[in-house]
Amino acid sequence: MLHRRHGLPDGWEAIAGRVGWWHCFTADEQAALAEITDWLLRHKHWEAAHDFALTDEITVTIALQAAMLVLGLATDDFREVSAIIVYPSAMQSGGVSAGPISGTVSDGMIPVLGEAHSSRGPLILAWDETIAAAHHPGRGHNVVFHEFAHKLDMLFDDIADGTPHLGGRIEPAHWVTVCTEAFDALQAGHHRPPLQEYGATNPAEFFAVATESFFDVPRSLAHHEPKLYDVLRAYYQQDPAARPQP
Ligand SMILES: [Zn+2]
Repeated sequence: MLHRRHGLPDGWEAIAGRVGWWHCFTADEQAALAEITDWLLRHKHWEAAHDFALTDEITVTIALQAAMLVLGLATDDFREVSAIIVYPSAMQSGGVSAGPISGTVSDGMIPVLGEAHSSRGPLILAWDETIAAAHHPGRGHNVVFHEFAHKLDMLFDDIADGTPHLGGRIEPAHWVTVCTEAFDALQAGHHRPPLQEYGATNPAEFFAVATESFFDVPRSLAHHEPKLYDVLRAYYQQDPAARPQP
């Protein structure tokens, strides 16, 4: 039974209903997602950049998609997330990329869709990209999945190295073998759909990109990259390909 919780605003169900993946979860899963969303709204610092203003639509849409990542994990696995700062659209980043883990790497003026800073630094998101992915799932791009995945990667060691805390669920050597094979192929310029080419940047970006595919185009990933899908399923303790699809 869904009901209003302390951090969830009135009307949150309608906002959740516009997130494409919401309808793919069972009632029990929706209740769990609502609980995690509520926790994120109450325990994280939410802020809008510049002249932008936060709305319930913005915070609930972001928190709910982040909640999907930890549905099979502990909510506290997001303890590296201190603050979420939302920009109306892609931030222009001049010179060297602003963060260690940015959405785009370039040395020119480039649009950055999101960033996840280390050492409990803020997570930065572009709202237009966030809402587009939320309302039109299945394209393999989701900046919320991407940036929150970096924060899971940083858990315990504060290092984004492409290997999150595996918790004994996967043999680390097996994880590394599977991920390295796909990462090396991307680096060599091979096309490995549905993985985005940006995953070739470094192992941390590979994990973030793989997470986007795992949650946003799970059946495609399971079909094209079954070994990678299996290690991600073991890590996240979810089987999104088995769910109804949006
Ligand atoms: Zn990234």
